[in-house]
Amino acid sequence: MAKFVFITGGVVSSLGKGLASAALGALLQARGFSVRLRKLDPYLNVDPGTMSPFEHGEVFVTDDGAETDLDLGHYERFTGVAARATDSVSSGRIYSNVLEKERRGDYLGKTIQVIPHVTDEIKDFIRIGAAETDFMLCEIGGTVGDIEGLPFFEAIRQFAQDEPRGQCIFMHLTLLPWIASAGELKTKPTQHSVKELRSIGIAPDLLVCRSEHPIPEKERAKLALFCNVRPDAVIAAYDLPSIYEAPLAYHREGLDQAVIDAFGISPAPAPDLTRWRDVADRIHNAEGEVRVAIVGKYTQLGDAYKSIAEALTHGGMANRVRVQAEWIDAEIFEAEDPAPHLEGFHAILVPGGFGERGTEGKIDAARFARERGIPYLGICLGMQMAVIEAARNQAGLADAGSEEFDHEAGAKRFTPVVYHLKEWVQGNATVTRRPDDAKGGTMRLGAYKAVLAPGSRVAEIYGTTEISERHRHRYEIDTRYRDRLEAQGLIFSGMSPDGRLPEIVERPDHPWFVGVQFHPELRSKPFAPHPLFADFIRAAVEVSRLV
Ligand code: GLN
Repeated sequence: MAKFVFITGGVVSSLGKGLASAALGALLQARGFSVRLRKLDPYLNVDPGTMSPFEHGEVFVTDDGAETDLDLGHYERFTGVAARATDSVSSGRIYSNVLEKERRGDYLGKTIQVIPHVTDEIKDFIRIGAAETDFMLCEIGGTVGDIEGLPFFEAIRQFAQDEPRGQCIFMHLTLLPWIASAGELKTKPTQHSVKELRSIGIAPDLLVCRSEHPIPEKERAKLALFCNVRPDAVIAAYDLPSIYEAPLAYHREGLDQAVIDAFGISPAPAPDLTRWRDVADRIHNAEGEVRVAIVGKYTQLGDAYKSIAEALTHGGMANRVRVQAEWIDAEIFEAEDPAPHLEGFHAILVPGGFGERGTEGKIDAARFARERGIPYLGICLGMQMAVIEAARNQAGLADAGSEEFDHEAGAKRFTPVVYHLKEWVQGNATVTRRPDDAKGGTMRLGAYKAVLAPGSRVAEIYGTTEISERHRHRYEIDTRYRDRLEAQGLIFSGMSPDGRLPEIVERPDHPWFVGVQFHPELRSKPFAPHPLFADFIRAAVEVSRLV
C-alpha cells in the first residue's frame, strides 16, 4: 500500500507547489521508490479542457485522453511517469460524479451531503491505484482557506485517519516575505497559514518555505516552534535559475530526508542523483545560444505554452545550447510585414491554438519560414496553418482555410482544406462527432498511433516508422488536397494507421520544415528530450552557425 504525501499551499498562490511536488517525486525515485503524482483542483469546471489558456495556462493531455492541469506536465517531466486520467480531478468532476450517483439512486434515499458523500468521493479518487506504488503524492490546488478547497482539505484529513498510522504526511508550502526596510524575513504569514490548516484538523509534518533570502537559523527555529514541526522539517525553497535544479536544490535542503524521516523509513536508501547532475550540467555548461520565435496567440502568458517552452529547453539541452525563446503575437503580422519581426531568429515555431484570431499571422509566419529556409515546427494548429499557406500560395487554392473559422463566423468563406473531423478510429471502435456537440472532452484526445513514410525526415528523426503521440484537436487536414500539395513539395510523411488522417507534413526541399497534428511537447523530458525538439534545435544551431 502506498504512503501518501498531501501537498497544500498557504499565504499566496503561485508558490510552485506543483514543482515542489514534482521535485519530491524525482527525489523519492532517485532513492529507488516508485511514485505517482496527482492533482486535486477545487475549481468547479469538470476539467480544464474548456478553460481559456488565459484562465488556467496550458491544458496538459494524458495518453488516456484526459485534459488536465499543467502541473501534471511538471510531474511527468520530473519523474517520467506517464500521467493518467485518474491523476487529475476537480470539484466539478467530484460533484458531477456524486450527482450522477444520486440520480441513479445509488445512495438509497439518503440525504446527500458534503460530508460524507463528497468527501467519500474524493477519498475514493485518492485511493485509485494506491496498491501499485510506493508513494502517492497528492497536491491540493489553491490555498488553504479558499471556500472551494474545504471539501478537499476535509477529505485528506479524514483520509489520514482512515489509513493505518504513519501512512500519510502533510507538506505545506508557504512564503516568507522579505521586508526590505526592516531587513527581515517574516514568519507570521506562515504561522497564520498553519493555524488555518490546524483549525480544519490538519497538522503539517513539513513546511516548505519559499524565500528570496537565506532563512537564518533563528527564523527556522521560530517556524518549527510556532508551527509545531521539527526544525529539520523546515525546508527552504529559494528561487532557482532553472526549474530543473529543483531536485538537487531540494535535496541539499533536506526535503527527501525529511519526508523519509516523517515516515520513519530506516535505513533510508541512498539517492542516486546522476540524472539530475547531468541535467544541471547541460544547463550550466551550454555552449552557445539559439533564438527561436514562437508565433502564437496567448503570448502574454508564459504558462499557456508551458510544455512547449520546456520542450525547447530540453531540445537545447540535447544540443548543449541555450534556447532563447521569444513570444511573438501572431496578430501583429496582420497589420505589419513579418520579416522585420522574424529576421534574426534561427527557427520558428507555431504552436497549437483555437479560433480564427491570429491565424492569418501564423500563415504569414509559415510562409516566411518556407521562403527563407528557416527551420519551422508547426504544432497542431501550426501544422494546419502551414498546410493552408501551401494551399493558398503554392497550390493555387487562394481561398483555402479551416472550417473552424467558418464555424466561428457562421458563414462559409473558405475552401476547407482543414475540415471538422466527424469520425475516427480509436482502438477497435469508431468515434463520431457532430459540429454541434458539447465542447467538453469531445476532441480527438490522447495517444494515437501514426505510421511514418520510410525514408522521410521524421522517420529518420524518430528512428522508427511507428510512433504514438498525444492529440488534442477537432479539425483535420483533408487528404483530397494531398496530391496537389505534395506536387508542391509538402509531403504527407505521417498518417494514421488506417491512412485517413494526416499526422505529419514535411518539406524535403527545405532545411527543416515539419508540421505535426499532435503535441510532441507533452512527451519531452529534460533527461529524455523529444526527438523532434532535439532535431529542430539541432537545425537551429546549424542556421546560427551560418549567420
Ligand atoms: N483548433 C485546431 C483543432 O481543433 C487545433 C487544435 C490545437 O492546436 N491543439 O483542430
